[in-house]
Amino acid sequence: MTFDDGPHPVYTKLLLDGLRERGVKATFFLIGQNLDGNEKLVRQMKEDGHLIGNHSQKHMQLTAEAVKDACSQIQWTNEKIQAITGESPQYIRPPYGSWSEELECVVPMTVVLWDIDPLDWKVQNTRQIVDHVVKRVQDGSIILLHDSYETSVEAALEIIDTLSANGYNFVTADELVIE
Ligand SMILES: [Zn+2]
Repeated sequence: MTFDDGPHPVYTKLLLDGLRERGVKATFFLIGQNLDGNEKLVRQMKEDGHLIGNHSQKHMQLTAEAVKDACSQIQWTNEKIQAITGESPQYIRPPYGSWSEELECVVPMTVVLWDIDPLDWKVQNTRQIVDHVVKRVQDGSIILLHDSYETSVEAALEIIDTLSANGYNFVTADELVIE
């Protein structure tokens, strides 16, 4: 499971607590400008063994920016995360999945896209999100959700409970073979 656009002061906390209770590890792609004031949440992610990745500084479409600007925004976010966790992210999820090789500028980063996108930010309906994911999931699926909505957090925890009961395990994105 992957969560984009956080950290969110309320819903990321709810999600982290739910994941901790269940002993499940996930991947968080953080927006640089959302980090200030949420450092504690980022430290909890790290302590609980979640993978922390970069989701740009301001959620811009990186391929629409000058390469130099896009690179400096990626770098800025990496440095900000490193200042909190002591570790620079190695994985990036570019907003809108929009990426080009030119962006492998500052430090080479591994791009993580997704297979299952229930448009949780748009539907904001727990049942619809759960049904969408549970119907489509397979071994190795990368599920895209956003930890900035209550419905998404509720759905995420319900998906985990349902899929765990069906024998699925959850791993961080670096443990999946990404081709
Ligand atoms: Zn996003």
